[in-house]
Amino acid sequence: MRRQPSQPDLPGGAYTLHLKVEGRTRVRVGSLGDVVLEAGNYVYVGSARKSIEGRIARHRRLANEKTGKLRWHIDYLLTHSGIELVGLEPHPGCRECDIARSVASLKGASAPVPRFGASDCRWGCAAHLFRVERSIKGKISPAAIQKGNKKL
Ligand SMILES: [Zn+2]
Repeated sequence: MRRQPSQPDLPGGAYTLHLKVEGRTRVRVGSLGDVVLEAGNYVYVGSARKSIEGRIARHRRLANEKTGKLRWHIDYLLTHSGIELVGLEPHPGCRECDIARSVASLKGASAPVPRFGASDCRWGCAAHLFRVERSIKGKISPAAIQKGNKKL
């Protein structure tokens, strides 16, 4: 297939969603079945081939309306009443799996749902959803990722 040049106003790339789970929550996540999330802060790392902004807007809409067409694993969390979307961040200079590895290496971080969001991952990430001790909203940058995450 011929590669289309990316449109300058709609760049593809990585993004993160920051979630807050208020209490122990059971969610049915499509092909993964029922998953249980403990209360806490979560980070989801995703990527969009064509438009980060378009994908983020779609996720935000699902989180606001708590209903809609569910396509990705994360959509099942976004539409759950006990899960709050507290931030959406584009990371045009970062690669999805580099961010995922950085988050995974943080002290106290865990990947409670194996394969979540990582069905297409070729880099061996346990998942692209992480529970973190503290929210890392606003802390992800190309420099932080390249430094081996100590600054996250
Ligand atoms: Zn990955």
